[in-house]
Amino acid sequence: MEEVKCYLPKTLKEALEIKAKVDVLPLAGGSDLMVSHKRTLGLTPVFEKPVMIIRNLPELKRIYLNEKGECCIGAGCTSAEIAENTLCPWHLRQAASRMGAIGLRNSATIAGNLANASPKGDTPGPLYLLDARVRLSSVRGDREVLVSDFIVKYRTIDLLPDELITQIIVPLSEDDFDYIFWHKVGTRKANAISKITLSQAIRFAPDGKTVEDFRLSATSTGSKTNRSRDVEKLLIGREITDETIESVVEGFDRIISPRAMPEFRREATRRMIRRFLSEAAKKPSSKVIDTYDGYHMTGAPVPRGEENG
Ligand SMILES: Cc1cc2nc3c(=O)[nH]c(=O)nc-3n(C[C@H](O)[C@H](O)[C@H](O)COP(=O)(O)OP(=O)(O)OC[C@H]3O[C@@H](n4cnc5c(N)ncnc54)[C@H](O)[C@@H]3O)c2cc1C
Repeated sequence: MEEVKCYLPKTLKEALEIKAKVDVLPLAGGSDLMVSHKRTLGLTPVFEKPVMIIRNLPELKRIYLNEKGECCIGAGCTSAEIAENTLCPWHLRQAASRMGAIGLRNSATIAGNLANASPKGDTPGPLYLLDARVRLSSVRGDREVLVSDFIVKYRTIDLLPDELITQIIVPLSEDDFDYIFWHKVGTRKANAISKITLSQAIRFAPDGKTVEDFRLSATSTGSKTNRSRDVEKLLIGREITDETIESVVEGFDRIISPRAMPEFRREATRRMIRRFLSEAAKKPSSKVIDTYDGYHMTGAPVPRGEENG
């Protein structure tokens, strides 16, 4: 049987010291790594380098609000822990609660989801929307970068060889907005990789009509999560009208570049933007603006064989 060399640090300090000296592969939940390294049934996975198991490092398991009120989420927190913790922003809780199935949510970590840098990953959408930062630590110290910069491009992240992701810091929450929206389009409720997921949030100025802030991000619509402040600014400082809605719809349509099922993904995106903004303009009593069942699927069925493109 082939051996897997494995490091089991007990503290973050120990883990960073190992990372500084040895070229190790951090393993958190293992839900990506065990699949990408799997072999025939019954054979242990083969890793190209030693593995360092960081899943249970206590320093990476905390969720708390810092002195600025920002939500700080330990890199080793699982989707289930995030979904259940009301300190975490609403959009992120929605995304975490719809990742994979229950078993997966108990192992998949937020850092693993970001390091994976898949355009279909569920947590980047809310994290882009809310200007979240990622803290990267090494024995040399810490640095922070926006999640949207950390994910450089498809499957590529800004992580130096001696660094670990240690925390995700989210400065905004649903309290900063009047209306919020999150919807994942998938073929079923569990174990569905996103066909497209939209996160939106809006806040009105004291006059109740002028848009003070508007945010929109989408996954599965290009080589990485899409968000554009320039497109959002088409609505900021203006009122919601058919014209301003269409300017956002057209502006966002220009920045996304879905590869498979492009027309389905574009049409679902357009409809979800129109739905959110037209409902927000009506000032409903509920802060959460939801989709109605299946509306995004009608008229644009997923072509067979292209479900996972
Ligand atoms: C059946 C199934 C269904 C899935 N469904 C979904 C889904 O619906 N939505 C979705 O977004 N994803 C899904 N995934 C993908 C996967 O579960 C997630 O990407 C998960 O969040 C990965 O986290 P992990 O802790 O398991 O990562 P791991 O497999 O442990 O690691 C993944 C990568 O992250 C690196 N890493 C982990 N932690 C750190 C750290 N602290 N610092 C630096 N690098 C680190 C590892 O070295 C590795 O490169 C699914 C996977 C499976 C197998």
